[in-house]
Order: sequence, then C-alpha cells, then structure tokens
Amino acid sequence: MKILFFGPNGSGKGTQGKIVKEKFGIPHIETGVIFRDNISRGTDLGKEAKGYIDRGELVPDSITIPMILERLKEDDCNNGWLLDGFPRNLTQAQELDKALGQEGINLDIVIEMILDRQIAKNRIMGRRLCVNDNNHPNNIFIDAIKPDGDNCRVCGGELKTRTDDQDEEAIDQRHNIYYDTETGTMAGVNYYKDLSAKKNGVPKIMDLDGRPGLKEVTEELLAKLGQ
Ligand code: AMP
Repeated sequence: MKILFFGPNGSGKGTQGKIVKEKFGIPHIETGVIFRDNISRGTDLGKEAKGYIDRGELVPDSITIPMILERLKEDDCNNGWLLDGFPRNLTQAQELDKALGQEGINLDIVIEMILDRQIAKNRIMGRRLCVNDNNHPNNIFIDAIKPDGDNCRVCGGELKTRTDDQDEEAIDQRHNIYYDTETGTMAGVNYYKDLSAKKNGVPKIMDLDGRPGLKEVTEELLAKLGQ
C-alpha cells in the first residue's frame, strides 16, 4: 500500500501515520523527522536545513526532492510506504508523480486530513516531545494525551518543545504554505485530485476529519482503509 498523507501542520497526521505504519507494516516516512534527525546529528544536510525550518519555510526542493526519492528506493519500501510531509508544494507533487511513473509504481491512496487553522495552531503550541521517544504523544491542550505534570505520560521522561512550534510567525508561515493553492501544498493536493479524476479514481482520494479525539480519528481512518 502506497499512501500520501496530507494535512495542515498540527492536524495529527504524524500520530495517525504511526498507527497506519503499525497496522500495515509499512515505513512511515516523515520529511520533518528526517530533517530534525540530521540537525541533531549535526550533518551537513541538517546544518543547511535548520534556518529554513526555524523560520517555517520549506527546505529547498533541490535538497528535499532527491532526499525523499532516494529514501523510497530503500529495501523497506518494497511493500509500500506512507509519506507524511511530502509533497509539500506543487513541484514536489509533480516530481514524485514523475519518479513513480518512471519506476512503474502506482500510488494507491491520498489522504487529506482537514482541520481548522486555529485549532491546528493550538495543537502545535501544546505539543511536547519526549526526550526518550519521539513517538510518545504528549500535548498540554489535549486531555487524552496530557503530560503527567512536566513529564511524558508514557514513560515519565523529560519533555521538550520544538522551537518552530513555539514561534507563531513560523506556524503561520507553515500554514500559509499549506493552504497556498497556487504553488503550495494545496496545489499538490489538487494535483493528485485531478490525476485521480483523470485515471478513474486511482489513486483513491480520502478526506479525514481531524476535529474529533485521537481514537475517533483513528477509527475513521482505519475504517476508510478497510481495517
Ligand atoms: P514538519 O515536521 O512536517 O512540521 O516539518 C518541519 C519543517 O521541515 C517544515 O516547516 C519545513 O521547514 C521542513 N520540511 C518538512 N517537509 C518538507 C518538504 N516536503 N519540503 C521542504 N521542507 C520541508
């Protein structure tokens, strides 16, 4: 199963993506995570990406596109993948489509998670990251996943914030890019919607309402994926 997962920053697609990964046994490839991992390891890629990320701007396509296309060639991607955070603009959408076409790979599903901008912004600002495991969900504004005091609700570890999550200007910038229908992420979503319309519903396009609680969103998502 090959899936693209779209949604504004803060809509919860990272959390839902992890559940799909477990359920289908496919890698969950998150562009933002790859960049942050490179930043924490002090690689050249990380040094180059950091300034863009701190400002909420996109890392240039000349870096991001080859990075993801190479990642998709790794062995763990043979049975499918879930791409989260890529494509993030029209060029990336077109280049991905072109590369998949050249490899004879069919995209199965495009999920578009929908969540009001202000709600997403609050969720971003409430997000806390566990130093022991990035996958432990903690958010000071969401009752179901509220931290245990100042510590991770799963393991009790120390919690941190992402600098780009506490900077309202950077959050607005990320959302501006997301909702841009000319060249931004929504232009990429529309590219795949048009493609699906032209190719008899392939890839399948699915909407996902991001407003309910985590469990309800997961239930809707898995039901739509036939689980
Ligand atoms: P995220 O973890 O998805 O919120 O991404 C964090 C940051 O990484 C974004 O604000 C961008 O600076 C960068 N980034 C993530 N995905 C992409 C992408 N597909 N293209 C360019 N930059 C990206």
